[in-house]
This record gives sequence, C-alpha cells and structure tokens, in this order.
Amino acid sequence: MQTLGKILEQAEANAVAIGHFNISDLVTLKAVFEAARDLNVPVVVGASEGERQFLGVRQVSELVKSLREDYDFPIFLNADHTHSLPSAIEAAKAGFDWIVFDVSTLPFEQNVRQTKAAVETLKALRPDILVEGEIGDIGSGSEIHDAAPDLQKGLTTPAEAKQFVAETGVDTLAPAVGNMHGMLKSMVAGNTKKRLDIERISAIKAEARIFMTLHGASGTDDDDLREAIAAGMTVVHINTEVRLAWRRGFDAALAKQPDEIVPYKLLPQVVDSVKQVVAARLALFSTGRRARPAVQ
Ligand SMILES: [Zn+2]
Repeated sequence: MQTLGKILEQAEANAVAIGHFNISDLVTLKAVFEAARDLNVPVVVGASEGERQFLGVRQVSELVKSLREDYDFPIFLNADHTHSLPSAIEAAKAGFDWIVFDVSTLPFEQNVRQTKAAVETLKALRPDILVEGEIGDIGSGSEIHDAAPDLQKGLTTPAEAKQFVAETGVDTLAPAVGNMHGMLKSMVAGNTKKRLDIERISAIKAEARIFMTLHGASGTDDDDLREAIAAGMTVVHINTEVRLAWRRGFDAALAKQPDEIVPYKLLPQVVDSVKQVVAARLALFSTGRRARPAVQ
C-alpha cells in the first residue's frame, strides 16, 4: 500500500487532484468508498471536530483502516479543521493519517507560532502523519448560507504563504483563493457558482512550493476547478454537496417508502444519492491538466 505522501506526489506529477469528502456516518463513508473503488482512484475521507464527536474518534479511524486493509485500497482519513492541539493529538493517537491544524482565525504571527508547535508535537508522536496549515479566511460551516461573507480581505498572499510554509514545516497548505465553506441558497438552486482566483493559486504555488488543498469547493464552477488543479491544487475538499445529496436522498427514500422502518431498506437510496455526487467530483479531479479543454 502506498503512503498518503506518495499518493500526493503522484497526483502532483500527473496534475490531478485527490478528492476529500467529509463523513459523519457510515452511509456517507460507504458511498465515498464505493465511488472511489468504481473509479479506482485514491480517496481521503475527512472528519471535522463536530463530525468526529458524533462518529467517535477511534471508531471512525478503525472503520477507515478496516476498509483500507480488507480491500487493499488507498482510502485515508483526515482530521479536518482541528482547532486545538489536544484534539489534534487525540486524532493522531487514534491513527488518523492527516491533521488539518486550523488556527487561521488568529493573527498571522500567532498562527505561525502555534502551527509550528503543532507540527513538531504531532511529528514527534507520529513521524508518518501529514499536517496541514491554513492561512486566510474561507468562512466556516459546511451548511447552506443566506448571504456570502466578505472574504476579500482574507485572501492569502504568495509572500505570507511562502513565509508560513518555511516557518511552520507543514506538509500541505490550505490557502484562501476565492473558495468558501458552505453553499449559498442560489448555489443549491443551481443558479450561481463559486469562482476561484486562478492567478493567485499559481502565484502562491510558485512561491510556497508545497502541496495545496482547496477547501470549501462545493458549488464551484467545474472549469474553475480544472484550472485550479492545473494551477497547483493537489487536494480538493467537498462537504456541503455531500450533505445536500445525503439529505435529498433521505427525503426521496422517505417519500417513496413512507411506512418503511428498516434502515437498511431506506438508506441504500441515500448511499446512491451521495455516491453520484462523489463519483462526478472524483471523475473531474482525476482528469488532469492534459485533458483540460482549451480556455479562451
Ligand atoms: Zn475546510
């Protein structure tokens, strides 16, 4: 089995991205795993602090590990948006492969200092673990928002990305490049799309020279995603689209079988609904720069 680090290196060399999908139950894990196996591409599942609290930190780790081992398939687990060192240590000890240490709401210098300390502590505990740092403002909450927050002031600059990477020793970087957590109602309705600052992604990549993760990618224009991957994004996070598919699948299952009470007769519809979204995103992420249509 290849390590997650090797898988990122390969993705980088092929100009493709690895899909990262958040889970808070077995239904979503099953859907993500099945979609990745159908396409035969590596995949990362993420569990934020809230999601881990619901799933159980050690329990979700064992679930993912059992899939990886039983199917000999590259599925990895990320402790998404971990806001404190004790919480990061708990996930590292439970066997998570990757930690997003996110203190991006702090002033830059404090973010650097705390992230550096977290990298040192986590690597001492688990030398194989990957640690991601975050700078800039990409909002919070993978939910449906009424209005867009003003994220213009929180965009990451190439200079601060370079400094952050050099001083903290992170393995991967999550910058703010027009991306945003959650989706607006107009995006859920399919009337608007998120747009990304592709030039900024290229400029940050050139300066920071590190694997980069695009957070909050739900509802993003497909061509912008292709260009973002070509410009240097190696990992793409999708959560809100998955949650929306979960809810729509569940609503449809209840509407279709209003008297059904057997979970394993209702939930396959939810698996299918989530799986469709995940498969479409994985197909797009794994197409690569070479197959990208010409941009006018
Ligand atoms: Zn995120």
